[in-house]
Amino acid sequence: MSGDLRVGHGFDTHRFGDEPGRPLILGGVRFEGVAGLVGHSDGDAVAHAVTDALLSAAGLGDIGVLFPDTDDKWAGADSLGLLADAVARLAAAGWRVVNADCTVVAEAPRIAPRRADMEARLSEVVGAPVAVKGKRAESLGALGRGEGLACWAVALIERR
Ligand code: MG
Repeated sequence: MSGDLRVGHGFDTHRFGDEPGRPLILGGVRFEGVAGLVGHSDGDAVAHAVTDALLSAAGLGDIGVLFPDTDDKWAGADSLGLLADAVARLAAAGWRVVNADCTVVAEAPRIAPRRADMEARLSEVVGAPVAVKGKRAESLGALGRGEGLACWAVALIERR
């Protein structure tokens, strides 16, 4: 460890849509038999929260500034690509990722069965361990009614 450490936090939420055939993608993993999330990109709220945590830790802005949803360039974008772009920006600025940790709050789908897949995909892109865990909202509010899902993420980075 270099001793020069920064922590960053990210949050994202997307609502479930009714567009036929739109897949649900979380942490780069496709969930079958569940409605997809509404979003300009692929709607991957987990990738978005991790991306924001990393960018914020390095003081490099946020996903809305770098990949605006008003730009057609990012329509339907693979959010792992956005995450990889953020990791490259950190590297260019002299930072490397130590680890990241995410909590997904969703009534459905269940995260646990795909947790290892999500962690593997995210860790591969980030180049450091990324942990994922799922929680239910216990019927409280919009998340509890299953209208959408949310993800919180924290990331630790260090100066290379
Ligand atoms: Mg988002």
